Amino acid sequence: MLDADFFRRWMTVTAASVDREAERLTALDSPIGDADHGSNLQRGFTAVTAALEKEAPDTPGAILILAGRQLISTVGGASGPLYGTLLRRTGKALGDAAEVDRAQLADALRAGVDAVMTLGGAAPGDKTMIDALVPAVDALGESFGAARNAAEHGALATIPLQARKGRASYLGERSIGHQDPGATSSALLIAGLAEAAD
Ligand code: ADP
Ligand code: MG
Ligand code: MG
Repeated sequence: MLDADFFRRWMTVTAASVDREAERLTALDSPIGDADHGSNLQRGFTAVTAALEKEAPDTPGAILILAGRQLISTVGGASGPLYGTLLRRTGKALGDAAEVDRAQLADALRAGVDAVMTLGGAAPGDKTMIDALVPAVDALGESFGAARNAAEHGALATIPLQARKGRASYLGERSIGHQDPGATSSALLIAGLAEAAD
């Protein structure tokens, strides 16, 4: 079973990997964006870990709702509201259970990903974070490791795509040949689940 400690670890290890990969995320956002994705998420996840320490929410749902709220209020840019919605909606779907199993988390994350698609209007294949998140949620029923691999594969698979949402879409065909920064950071978020489960 996955308890509040697991969800706190998920956020902490994700914050650490965003810190480690911030330069790479910003570099990916340079040719097809405005070179701020790494610093945006670094600011956001620093706020998430600080808020979790201060407020110490004690259920999985409350942890994700607090994390999502921090991302919305501290990350400027498209990714803040989108990631914030993902975590808030997922947290809401978990309700006030003290523990959940992986299948319940998969269902809740699916609700979160659906909310991101509604908010941002992106579908799979549009070269966004959705291209990592949808395959990850599909694979989460199998295992955390399968979800991590699916998200990494989904992020790499954005390279040949033409962007249809977000700043990268302004480049039209010139967005082809570059890996999407948001799909890359989503793969870090999903890898964080596998790491927290270890
Ligand atoms: P900004 O583009 O405002 O500078 P970021 O650089 O932080 O924001 O985030 C860019 C990422 O956000 C993109 O790589 C993409 O994955 C994601 N993104 C942008 N617009 C959308 C959207 N409408 N739906 C889903 N994801 C999106
Ligand atoms: Mg950007
Ligand atoms: Mg920006």
